[in-house]
Amino acid sequence: TDRSATTTRPSGEVADMKISDEVMINMTGVNKWFGEFHVLKDINLTVNRGERIVICGPSGSGKSTLIRCINRLEEHQSGSIVIDGTELTDDLKRIDEIRRDVGMVFQHFNLFPHLTILENCTLAPIWVRKTPKKEAEEIAMTYLTRVKIPEQANKYPGQLSGGQQQRVAIARALCMNPSVMLFDEPTSALDPEMIKEVLDVMIDLAQSGMTMLCVTHEMGFARQVANRVIFMDAGMIVEQNAPEPFFTNPQHERTKLFLSQIL
Ligand code: ADP
Ligand code: MG
Repeated sequence: TDRSATTTRPSGEVADMKISDEVMINMTGVNKWFGEFHVLKDINLTVNRGERIVICGPSGSGKSTLIRCINRLEEHQSGSIVIDGTELTDDLKRIDEIRRDVGMVFQHFNLFPHLTILENCTLAPIWVRKTPKKEAEEIAMTYLTRVKIPEQANKYPGQLSGGQQQRVAIARALCMNPSVMLFDEPTSALDPEMIKEVLDVMIDLAQSGMTMLCVTHEMGFARQVANRVIFMDAGMIVEQNAPEPFFTNPQHERTKLFLSQIL
């Protein structure tokens, strides 16, 4: 059974997106330390297929660490993380499966500078998914068209603007046909005039039904596409709610303070 998100949003654009009852990500009692430093404290988080979640919170609160644990770029020390039915353990084969299924977009794009845009997009499909080269190129062109830069396919990352590079990074992740996309402050390294072109791609992706976890302080984006906003502080999920009540009626002092500083 599906249920629709019912909150009315200013744009109304993504308001009738379907959220499945199927669990995509389940984190239970997750703790992580960097040495003595307790960076994630008893994180419990369930994300259903089709959910679009924005994670916000002060610098150093553990947002990046949280989403990096989801594709095992960081290892948690206790609790369980289950992605699409597969538990993250030390089993390398499973970690590979999960990395194929979980797309990630970073603040600093992380494109391969010595490869063309097209090669950046076909590398993993060809070598990891064993997709034939011609097919991988066709798929890549489809996604480069979707992020509105098919004409850049044969250029190198250094020849593109930051906004264009970030759109390539999103297209590259989509070429692996992920079932969930993680974004870690995808617009925070961009010049202001390039932020919108990246957010527009992310909005389009949300409208297509992609399950998304986005660390971002773009609160307009959160209001427009998120069905849930999560506030983290000091390694904990302090508060979470649908965007309207989250922004208009935050419950915790720390959330109020944070919102007063960024809004
Ligand atoms: P956020 O993304 O919310 O800014 P992070 O998850 O990047 O926070 O970091 C949370 C805390 O963990 C910070 O205090 C940071 O300095 C620390 N930290 C992050 N990565 C490491 C690491 N590899 N080793 C030690 N400490 C780290
Ligand atoms: Mg971070």
